[in-house]
Formats: sequence, structure tokens, C-alpha cells
Amino acid sequence: MSEERHGAGTSRVAAFGAAASGNVAPRIRTIVETIGCTPLVQLQRIGRDLEVPIYVKCEHLNPGGSVKDRIALAIVLDAEERGVLKPGATLVEATAGNTGMGLALVAAARGYKLVCVMPEKMSQDKRDALSIVGAEVIITKNAPPSSPDNFQNVARRLAEEHGWFLTDQFENAANPCVHERTTGPEIYEQTGGALGAFVAGAGTGGTISGVGRFLKSKDPSIRIVLADPAGSGLAEWVKRREMGPDGAYTVEGIGSSKVPGNLDVTVIDEAETVTDEESFEMTRRLIVEEGLYVGGSSGTAVAAALRVAERGEVRLPVVALLADAWDRYRSKPWMKDFSAKNKGI
Ligand code: PMP
Repeated sequence: MSEERHGAGTSRVAAFGAAASGNVAPRIRTIVETIGCTPLVQLQRIGRDLEVPIYVKCEHLNPGGSVKDRIALAIVLDAEERGVLKPGATLVEATAGNTGMGLALVAAARGYKLVCVMPEKMSQDKRDALSIVGAEVIITKNAPPSSPDNFQNVARRLAEEHGWFLTDQFENAANPCVHERTTGPEIYEQTGGALGAFVAGAGTGGTISGVGRFLKSKDPSIRIVLADPAGSGLAEWVKRREMGPDGAYTVEGIGSSKVPGNLDVTVIDEAETVTDEESFEMTRRLIVEEGLYVGGSSGTAVAAALRVAERGEVRLPVVALLADAWDRYRSKPWMKDFSAKNKGI
């Protein structure tokens, strides 16, 4: 296994275009080189009676604890290459937390400062984590996209006022691109190209769009399925190109009341709507029954993947994306409830 990981480390360097210096003693020189090449694991208990297995792509095992490490590195490398990021510059991002954690480690490794703007509904764990890792955290009201108090609008305004670099995960093309270049090919390679469907939620849409583009280019019959929280408008957008009504939900990081610039709906075949209860119960089962220490949106993706597999439409494995780790939700009532629920097992 350690040999395998070493090999994976080397290909990470290649994948992200880092310079190979030839005579370096440790193969991995900075933490950012461990981003990506995450394991694909088959679920053992959940869905075991189904005809096709469920595989999960373990993005929670990235060094910053989420899929967002990939885009943090890609956005910074892209801006450096374009010459728009000067040494010691300040990065500013509108983030629910995960992109901030990814950017914080990239900023630390490459010498930048970081400001994160997040809405107040985000967990205390995420706020604390970001300031502990050195970011300045600015909290906004839970305001809709039309409001000047909306977290994305506040981040854009701050970038303009202070000359900071807006990493802009919602619009920056480096976001879906890195998934098309790394996450998609990894999944294709890890399954030997034998997969029937890929299931993920969408926050910025970068993951599902980039992975979807790559998988469709390899095999258009692979179904790309959006796992959307009940209350988000995106499922209706996928089905009818009309945004659904804007409702409240608790699961973090996915769903939207506005179509994100990075969502490429042309590569998405269908959408599954998942309630908070289903998402959180599936998250608990992933943790307790599978040992996969993940957050709420992973439960959403796996709940949707089970439905796809149960319908029997696909005859090959279904792959679901586990976007982040459990530890950033410990202050949330839904996760605290796990202790009581686990007693009944
Ligand atoms: N799950 C969580 C917990 C997230 O924070 C995000 C990103 N906001 C996603 C899933 C969705 O990823 P993407 O932005 O690539 O659509």
C-alpha cells in the first residue's frame, strides 16, 4: 500500500504540473503534492443486496479534508501562471469552509495570505478551523444572491476595494478543469472504465461538471446524476431548465437557489432530490457501518446513488463522491444525534 501511495504521489506532481527537479531526496516535498489520487472504496454493508456495487471516491481523505483541495491548488497555480498573483498577495474567497481549508494549506505552502467570507449558517467548527489555520474569517448574513450582504457579493466587493485576488470558485474555470483533468480520469482508471453512473452534489458545480465532462468524453452511456438537497432549486434546473422553489435545508456545501456559473448542466442526465433526514441517516451509516468519516453531503450522494442502483437502470458499479470529512460538523445537532441513534444498534 505504501508503495502504491508513493507512486500516486509522483503522479500527483505530474497531474498538477509541478516542476520535477530530478535529484530531490524526499519524493513529496510539500503537502500540496499529496492532493488528489484519493482511494476508491467499495461499500461493504450499505447496498450489499443490490445487483451492482456502490463505490465511493474518498475526497475526504485529501490533506485539507475535502474535494476542495484540488480546486484550491488548481486556482492558485493557474493564477500564478497567468501572472495575476504576486508573491505574498492576499487571496479572498466566498466559502462554506472547505475551499477555505484547501486554500489555507495552499496559501501556507506557497506564501499567501487568506481571507474567507462565509454565511452565518455555516458550522462553528468550520469557522474555528479556518481561523486556527490562519485565515481571516468574515461572517455575512444568510442573504440571497440578490442582496449586497450575500457572501459572494461581499467577497467580490472586498477584492475590488483592497486589490485582493478573488479566487472565485463559482466562476473560475480552473475549478471544473481540475476535475476534468484529475478526478474524472482517476475514477475512470480506478474502475477500469467499468462504471454505470457517477453521483455527486453541486455547490459550485465544479466537481460534477468536470468529472461529467471527462466521463462522457470516454463513454457517453455513463450516467451523470446530481444529488440535490430538498429545498435546492438545482434538481428542477437539471430536469426542466427551470429553477425549483427556494426552500430551507441543513446539509451544507451543496444545492443552490441560483445556477452556479461552473455548473455544466449539459453533462448531467438526471437529478435525485434527497431530504436532510435521508442525507444525515446515510452519513451516520457511512461512519458507523463503513468506517468512512464523512460529512452530510456525502450522505446525500450515497442516498442518491442507492436509488440509481436500486432502479436497475445501470448494470455496472455506481460511483458516489464523498466530498468532505465529518470533523467539521461535530457542533451540529444532526451529528450530535448520532450518539443516541447508535445506541439502538
Ligand atoms: N460537499 C461539500 C461539503 C462542499 O463543501 C461542496 C462544495 N461547496 C460540495 C459538496 C460540492 O462541490 P462543488 O462545489 O464542486 O459542486
